[in-house]
Amino acid sequence: MNSNQMNSTCEEQVTYEQLKTIRDIQDELWETNVSKGWNKLKRTPLEMHALITTEIAEATEAVRLGMPAITIINGKPEGEAVELTDAIIRILNYFTEMGWDVAFLIEMKNNYNKTRERLHGKRL
Ligand SMILES: [Mg+2]
Repeated sequence: MNSNQMNSTCEEQVTYEQLKTIRDIQDELWETNVSKGWNKLKRTPLEMHALITTEIAEATEAVRLGMPAITIINGKPEGEAVELTDAIIRILNYFTEMGWDVAFLIEMKNNYNKTRERLHGKRL
């Protein structure tokens, strides 16, 4: 299946009304986090940064091992894309815990980035 066929199939299965906002996703992730008791562990910012970095390292290791980006091993999703998703989940849960609005911050940072020079003024 090529990307055009996949997009066509996806568009048939998902309507825009069904798409979740990043805030919806953040809320659902937090509900899972709470239901599994992870919210009871009060971690420092440095511990959280280390845990996020660990997921990035797992993604790097998956690439180094030549694993597919998304695969299922013994019923568990594995691979680069899955580990990067773990990093996103950890970041979004951390944002919820800190009361940071990720949608606002992404808009704010992207608006700032739009004002920056091409390659942020660096030369290749
Ligand atoms: Mg992981």
